[in-house]
Amino acid sequence: MSDPVVAVLGGGQLGRMLALAAAPLGVRCRFLDPKADAPARDLGPLVIGALDDADALTSVVDGATVATYEWEGVPASSARLVAGMVPIRPGAKSLEVSQDRKLEKDTFRALDIPTAQFAIVDDRATLDEAVHAIGLPAVLKTRRGGYDGKGQAVLRDDADVDAAWSRLGDQPLLLEQWIAFERELSVIATRDADGHVVAWPLVENVHENGTLRTSRAPATATGDVTTAAHDSVRKLLDQLDHVGTLALELFDTGDALLANELAPRVHNTGHWTIEGAVTSQFENHIRAVLGLPLGETTPVGHCAMVNFLGGLPDPADVMRLPRSHFHDYRKSPAPGRKVGHATLVADDPDALETPLSELLALAHAASASLETP
Ligand code: ATP
Ligand code: MG
Repeated sequence: MSDPVVAVLGGGQLGRMLALAAAPLGVRCRFLDPKADAPARDLGPLVIGALDDADALTSVVDGATVATYEWEGVPASSARLVAGMVPIRPGAKSLEVSQDRKLEKDTFRALDIPTAQFAIVDDRATLDEAVHAIGLPAVLKTRRGGYDGKGQAVLRDDADVDAAWSRLGDQPLLLEQWIAFERELSVIATRDADGHVVAWPLVENVHENGTLRTSRAPATATGDVTTAAHDSVRKLLDQLDHVGTLALELFDTGDALLANELAPRVHNTGHWTIEGAVTSQFENHIRAVLGLPLGETTPVGHCAMVNFLGGLPDPADVMRLPRSHFHDYRKSPAPGRKVGHATLVADDPDALETPLSELLALAHAASASLETP
């Protein structure tokens, strides 16, 4: 039998890391991405084309064992087209639900997964009604197409409502109650084709200007909180009949865990699993889509992952830190762009503090050097 080939829709850093995990298994990846300089280009053949281009989709899946995606913006119609040629895992349903914040929240509700209060906003009148019903502060979000905090406005007073409406009012929106969370958590799990689910420990995340900067794992959490998060992600995976890795972002208010959003793919808050768990989110995704047995998710230590946003620090400065792992996505620098990350591993959480503050200083300096003209 010839080596399995996974056709990946999208060729960003997630595709790159999927291929890096696939290689030792004897699995090759190839990619479809609109950009010739897509980060996955070094790791396998790249078809350059739009993710809704039938010819490009046909070309990337031709002869592949299975198709998957690394970007939740892949049109569901593309997933359906591909499904007529090779199995695609996960399927179109996971894309549809995650692409529309209303469908996503309706899915959470139907599964009894708690969320922030929300209301659909179709025009100025429904915005005013929503503000009245939910109260301020609140967050106005585009129903579709948001990422890294883009397409959102925090509303604190009436002037914010007017300003947000003139900026975002030309598309379907949703108003969400502002959650004064104690911390943000995420949970990542992989489901195989037989419905067997494995989940990693909870991750605690810190965002800067709407973009993830730091993840720490395992997060300190009671058994009840962990069980609740694992139950929620398992219900979602089953409901979507999702085969592969999925991430669920959560707000921890101290009293409750509220689901924020899901990502039907490997996730930035799971990058620590590459060096920090027995099996990474990327390897288990590859295993799941190929029908191979899933690996253990047990952590091998306490981990901190820091994103490099905008620009990379000097790799040697990062490698000097104890038990550090440097990842360069081979992207050109641009303000706020995720260009790489590093993970630190330690035997106890205290041992992470000093190297983590040094790593954060390097990451902030690299971001700042880019932003100063
Ligand atoms: P990403 O792609 O980074 O996950 P996104 O653009 O899809 O982001 P969200 O995850 O909805 O958007 O929001 C980004 C961040 O904004 C959240 O991680 C959180 O820090 C903050 N945020 C979003 N919604 C709320 C809310 N209702 N209350 C408080 N903070 C919020
Ligand atoms: Mg998010």
